[in-house]
Amino acid sequence: MWMKIAIIGAGPIGLSIAKKLSSLGHSVTVYEEHKSIGIPQHCAGVVSRSFIERYVGSKHILNRFNRIKLYSPSNISVTLHDNSWFVGVIDRVGFDCELYDRCYEYCCLGVRVNAVNYRKASIEVNGIIKSYDLVINAEGASHRILGKTLNPYVDRVPGIQMDLECRLSNVDLDTIQVFFSKLTPKFFIWLLPLGDGIVRVGLGSSRKPYTRLIYVLSKHPIISKQIGKYRVLRVFGGWILRGPVLKTPYLGRLLYIGDSAIQVKPLTGGGLLTGLKSVDALTKAFNECSDVNNIGVRYAKLNLDLVMKLRRQRVLVKLLNLLVNTPKTMDKAFSIISQSNLLEAIGRDLDFDNHESIPRSIILKIHLVISSFIRALIS
Ligand SMILES: Cc1cc2nc3c(=O)[nH]c(=O)nc-3n(C[C@H](O)[C@H](O)[C@H](O)COP(=O)(O)OP(=O)(O)OC[C@H]3O[C@@H](n4cnc5c(N)ncnc54)[C@H](O)[C@@H]3O)c2cc1C
Repeated sequence: MWMKIAIIGAGPIGLSIAKKLSSLGHSVTVYEEHKSIGIPQHCAGVVSRSFIERYVGSKHILNRFNRIKLYSPSNISVTLHDNSWFVGVIDRVGFDCELYDRCYEYCCLGVRVNAVNYRKASIEVNGIIKSYDLVINAEGASHRILGKTLNPYVDRVPGIQMDLECRLSNVDLDTIQVFFSKLTPKFFIWLLPLGDGIVRVGLGSSRKPYTRLIYVLSKHPIISKQIGKYRVLRVFGGWILRGPVLKTPYLGRLLYIGDSAIQVKPLTGGGLLTGLKSVDALTKAFNECSDVNNIGVRYAKLNLDLVMKLRRQRVLVKLLNLLVNTPKTMDKAFSIISQSNLLEAIGRDLDFDNHESIPRSIILKIHLVISSFIRALIS
């Protein structure tokens, strides 16, 4: 059945679903409140190699990494590595603009959707009510429509980052650095070399994130030395979501997708892969259902595997926060791991897109954990 569909938000998820649904023959209109695509930017742009190969191509890659170096609060470090690159940073604005170029004719830029009636599938724009067969909410993490409709609990933390021009010293350009610190309880600081003397440094913290980032740049014992004097090129950020993902991503004739449905990895808040996987599920639901009233149910069913995976990951993150809940226990854990060859063994199985692969791998190599633990007790 041919449908008239409104999409709220021209982020990567809104634009991707718009392209897919128009290819299926539906009439699609995307409403974007900003006049430019991808701006204001909030995302660090870190995605896996397989994501880049499937969705991005080489055009928008800013850097490729084959190591992730993790630091404990006392700066004991461990490194996950692979022989070839497995993570990259992409230019999010370039990526979003390319998606826009494929469907600009259905997009209305600079137009905010103020309200949605989920029973009638209508939206209010500039005081005018417009009616559709379905409305898809891809509003991202702003959650204004989500807040006025389902209003679920959302675990989120403000994230801020800066692109800096500096003379990096003692930094491998093929290494992402992640610092667990007292300044960022339950989250972390990231440092991504982008090449050409530019580095992206950011953190997630529920208290004074900007002040903390400035403090980190000048006082953190490792970061301040690596960066030295710097010039700020830009400052950007937004809400980092950590779950819980919506299990029922619809209400009447309003569907939720991407950050608006909290479809993110709970460990890092990354939402590009999970959002685009949900685009595949929703497209399939449109393919399989001709009744507008059944699409939400079908979409929820097709997306259930992803939802359960994200829920399991959230339980793991909570467990990790319980086990390693003080800087001291985190230092101890890092010290045990760094003395074993566990990380080398895990590194070989590491799947950046599936955070469950880490505990699974640890369980499979439990003998290494036990022997390191005994060695740590003896020493
Ligand atoms: C600091 C930070 C770092 C991140 N780093 C990563 C990372 O490294 N890797 C990763 O995978 N993910 C990362 N993310 C998450 C990632 O940015 C999101 O998961 C992704 O952008 C979700 O895409 P989306 O299309 O759902 O939402 P968005 O990209 O937020 O797009 C939503 C769009 O909707 C528009 N909009 C909102 N409300 C309305 C309205 N009422 N009317 C009209 N338009 C509206 C907005 O202007 C926006 O353009 C990060 C997030 C933050 C905050």
